[in-house]
Amino acid sequence: MEAVCACGTVVLELSDEPLAQVYCHCDDCQRAHGAAYVPRAIFPRSAVSVRCGETREWLNRTRTMVICSACGSHLYGEQDGSPFRGVNASLLPAGRFTPSAHFHCLYAVAPALDALPHYRDFPAEYGGTGKLIGW
Ligand SMILES: [Zn+2]
Ligand SMILES: [Zn+2]
Repeated sequence: MEAVCACGTVVLELSDEPLAQVYCHCDDCQRAHGAAYVPRAIFPRSAVSVRCGETREWLNRTRTMVICSACGSHLYGEQDGSPFRGVNASLLPAGRFTPSAHFHCLYAVAPALDALPHYRDFPAEYGGTGKLIGW
């Protein structure tokens, strides 16, 4: 599967299926995207590579953000030493974003009312508390 930035310059090669697809409500995402929450596809680090196009990096507090040099689209983010990369799921091919949960809802600016689980941070299998919140 590929992910293509908004201007078409950068193509990400995604060599595996995502481990999880979620909406992220964290305040790092809010600041970087100007959005209440964003669609994320979490891949093993080794499954995400830049096939073509020039990218730039910047540090969003503790997370390295990788963007397209031409249009500035956020491509993916990662924590130092993390085995995961969080890809901007808005760039996946149509129909490939199938979210299963909301993460980091303690930062939510407004309730997201749907039938998915709403984690206070994130599930225990990824190192979170696994706690759910009610709005
Ligand atoms: Zn671009
Ligand atoms: Zn986030």
